[in-house]
Amino acid sequence: MRLGFDLSGKRVLVVGLARTGVVTSLFSAGYGAAVTATDERPESELAETAAQLRAAGVKLELGGHVDASFLEQDLIVVSPGVPAKLPPLELARARGIPVWSEIELAWRFLRGKLVAITGSNGKTTTTALLAHILQTSNIPTLVGGNIGTPLLALVERSTDPAVTVAEISSFQLETIDKFRPEIGVILNLTPDHLDRHGTFEEYAHAKMRMFENQLDRDSALLNADDREVTERMPARPHIFWFSRQKRVANGSFLRDNEIIFRNEGSEAVLARRDQIPLRGEHNVENVLAACAAAYLAGATPAAIANGVKSFSGVEHRLEFAGEISGVQFYNDSKATNVDAAAKAIEAFPGPLVVILGGKDKGSPYTPLRDLLHDRARLALLIGEAAPKIANDLEGAVEIRRAGTLERAMQLAIETARPGDTVLLAPACSSFDQFENYEQRGRSFKALVTQRAGQLASGAAGAAATEPSSADKG
Ligand code: ADP
Repeated sequence: MRLGFDLSGKRVLVVGLARTGVVTSLFSAGYGAAVTATDERPESELAETAAQLRAAGVKLELGGHVDASFLEQDLIVVSPGVPAKLPPLELARARGIPVWSEIELAWRFLRGKLVAITGSNGKTTTTALLAHILQTSNIPTLVGGNIGTPLLALVERSTDPAVTVAEISSFQLETIDKFRPEIGVILNLTPDHLDRHGTFEEYAHAKMRMFENQLDRDSALLNADDREVTERMPARPHIFWFSRQKRVANGSFLRDNEIIFRNEGSEAVLARRDQIPLRGEHNVENVLAACAAAYLAGATPAAIANGVKSFSGVEHRLEFAGEISGVQFYNDSKATNVDAAAKAIEAFPGPLVVILGGKDKGSPYTPLRDLLHDRARLALLIGEAAPKIANDLEGAVEIRRAGTLERAMQLAIETARPGDTVLLAPACSSFDQFENYEQRGRSFKALVTQRAGQLASGAAGAAATEPSSADKG
C-alpha cells in the first residue's frame, strides 16, 4: 500500500512547464489542490500550455519566478529540467516546505509494482526492453518516467496486478522523499551531467538515492562489473547482480551462450545470447539487466526469451540508418556522453568514420583516444565542443573540423570506403545546434536518405541516358 498524499485544499506550486509540469499541474488541480505554475519562459512561448492550465483553474506566474510564491505553499513540485538548487527552492526548503520531483508524487498514487531503472547509460533501452518482455508475458504493463510519459500520467491506468516500468534520471532522484520502487535497477555509473551536478560524487549520490527507502523485501539489481556501483551497494534491500564478466551468486550472468538467473542455488535459463537482436557488448548488459528484472517481476523464462528475440531496439540508439555505396551509416545520436560514445565505437570493429561534438558536458574526451586510434579512419568534429575534443584527441586519430552535421556528412561520404561504417556518436549534448538529440538523429538519417536518393536518381538518370548513348554507338 502506497503512502498517498492528500492534495485536496493544499497549495501546490509547480516549477517548470514542460510536459511533466503540465501533467503535474493538471493532476494536482484534479485532486482539489490550489495550483500555481511558474516558468522562466514568457507567456508568448507557452501560449497553448497557458490556456490549457488556466482553463483548469491553475494560476500562472510566467516569464520568471516570484520568490514570495515559493514561501506560500504546502508543497512544491519541480520538473526534471529545473535545477534542484534554484535559490527560491532553497528558501522554501529552509522554511520546511517539501520540494519534490514529480516521481515522488506519482509514486504515492501508483498502484501495482514499480520497477525503476536508472544509470548513466542504457536506461531507455533497458526500460523499453523490459516493458516489451513483460508485455510478451501478458503481464499488464505501464511504461513511463524519463522515457516519455510522466509517471503521474500513468496513475489513472495503474492497477494492483500491473507492473510500471519507469526510466528514472538523476535529476528526478535529486528531489525524492519516500520514493521506493519494489525493484530498483542501476545499470552503471560514469560521469555525466557534471555541468549540472557539479561533482561525480554528487551525481552518483543522486543516482543511488533510488535505493534509500527500499525495505528488506524489495529488490535492488546492480551491475557487478561496475566498480562505481559495487562500491556504493545499498544496505537494506535484497541484492541481485547482473554481470557480463563473471558468475554471480544471486542474479543474471552468461554461461557460454546462455543467460542464467541464479537465486539461492536454483537456476533458470532466461534466454540465449545469440537471440539478442542488438549490437554491442553494452547491449548484452542491458539485456542481462532486463531479463533479471523481468524474472523478478514475474515473467516466465519462455516469455523472456521470446521478448528478447522480438525486441526491435529504440530509435537513435545504434540505429541502422542506411547503406550508400557499401558504406553503412549508424545513428547513435543518444550517445550524449563520453562513455556512451565509447560503447558505440566499441560495437564496430571498424574502419569507422566517427562524427563527434555538440555541446560539451564537462568530461574529458581522452577516454576515446585508444578506441579511435584502433578503429577509426577519421573523426569529424561538429559544434561548440570541437576545440576541446580536437585538443583531447590530438595525435590519436586524423581529425577534421566540419562545423555542422551537413558538412560532416559530406566529408564522411567523400572519405569512407566500401566496408566502412559512418557512426554518429557525438559524446556531447545537442543543444548548441539542435533542439534535442532526436532532432540531431533525424537530421543525420535524413541526410543519409537524401544522399542515397541523389545517387539513385543519378543512377536512374544515367540508366535513362544509356540507351541513347547505345543508340549512338
Ligand atoms: P539512457 O536512457 O541512459 O541515455 P539509452 O538506452 O538511451 O540510455 O542509450 C544511450 C546511449 O548510451 C546509446 O546510444 C549507447 O551509445 C549507450 N549505451 C546504451 N546502453 C549502454 C550501457 N549499458 N553501457 C554504456 N553505454 C550504453
